[in-house]
Amino acid sequence: MHDITDIPLVIEVTPGLFVRRAEDVMTWVDMGPYGVVIDTLEKPETESEILADIARTLGPKPIRYVLNTHTHYDHVALNGVFERRGATIINRKVHPLDEQGLTLCEGGRRLIMKPIPPCHTELDAIVHFPDDGVLIMGDVFGWGLIPLTTPLTRESAAMLLDFYRQMIALDPRVVVPGHGPMLERSHLERYVQYLPWLIEEVKSAMARGLDEEAIYAAVAPPADMHDWWRFLKWKHADSVKKVIHAAKRGRI
Ligand SMILES: [Zn+2]
Repeated sequence: MHDITDIPLVIEVTPGLFVRRAEDVMTWVDMGPYGVVIDTLEKPETESEILADIARTLGPKPIRYVLNTHTHYDHVALNGVFERRGATIINRKVHPLDEQGLTLCEGGRRLIMKPIPPCHTELDAIVHFPDDGVLIMGDVFGWGLIPLTTPLTRESAAMLLDFYRQMIALDPRVVVPGHGPMLERSHLERYVQYLPWLIEEVKSAMARGLDEEAIYAAVAPPADMHDWWRFLKWKHADSVKKVIHAAKRGRI
């Protein structure tokens, strides 16, 4: 089946800010005297293609910083390529961030990298361009996938939803996830409704004594989310599964 990410596409989201839309997303941005890269994909063999894309869009300016939203293998593959060319790598594993995070102001552009609660890994961060209205969330938004890598519980669900509400309050125009197409603030708003709905629906189906197979049938994916990236393929069912598992253990 056709998937919008089958063919990588470099999109200039706002002047000088480029997102390479694909299964794994990478962003680079013109900061005036230098460029900044955010997340560096999974496959080392993309090196020459990526370097060509960046040269074509940013020109010959050096990449001074590589920022990683987190350090899963599919976000750091080309870190070394840029490091060897003089870039400084910044992620929370190698560069602790305090509450304020890191701000770069250059070339008329403001970039803020901020630590966030552990919604996906222990050391997650977002990158926000407040004046451009662009928010890079990494894998904390998963197009319907519950992004937690820790068990789903009442507390972790509340943490996630609270974090989403904070991101909505930033009022982004474009949100860049770690994988798949870009989204808008309204998708975050939809997810904040979806997850509590899903939890309640699954719990109520379990309370009615439905077996697992019947629960999957009873808790159908909402029609208005059918076009979410890979949602029908597996993400909704995966979320149902996680909620069943948590509910069985009395954790949600
Ligand atoms: Zn990840």
